[in-house]
Amino acid sequence: LSAAWRHCPLCAAELVTLTEGNDAGRDGCPTGHFVHYVNPATTTFAFIERDGKWLALRRAHEPYAGEWDLPGGFIEAGERPDESLLREIAEETRLEVEIVGVIGAYSGHYGVDGKHTVDIGYHCRVTGGELEISDEKSEFRWATLEDFPEPAFEGERRALAALRAALHSGG
Ligand SMILES: [Zn+2]
Repeated sequence: LSAAWRHCPLCAAELVTLTEGNDAGRDGCPTGHFVHYVNPATTTFAFIERDGKWLALRRAHEPYAGEWDLPGGFIEAGERPDESLLREIAEETRLEVEIVGVIGAYSGHYGVDGKHTVDIGYHCRVTGGELEISDEKSEFRWATLEDFPEPAFEGERRALAALRAALHSGG
């Protein structure tokens, strides 16, 4: 059984590992009220471009405090991915941006043994605003793709590689 869920939220019976049906192997209520699905959380992040340089932010908090990162975060319930991204960019940078496109979607973890995530990487372009970073970040840098610091999260590193490949081929 997982550490997070021990009892059925409807009848408080102790959860068991189900042995039959489509949910065999998952934890659930023995009377069938509830199945605990361990699904990934979805995040968005952005490579933001301005005059041929791209914004890197240094993380102020765990996981990966002190390492480089991109603006973004977890999608809230009811939010669209693009809405979530623009909200996070506004909160973390005060910049106004337009979305150029999606770079890719990647599987990752929030920290070394952290929660399983699906991370959607976007390419954005600055349209206005003055850069002012939030308390979540300790430092920023505008870098070329060649000099871009290695980001903390696997999806971000894979998106950086995809962006470098696309821009080098003139795409
Ligand atoms: Zn129950």
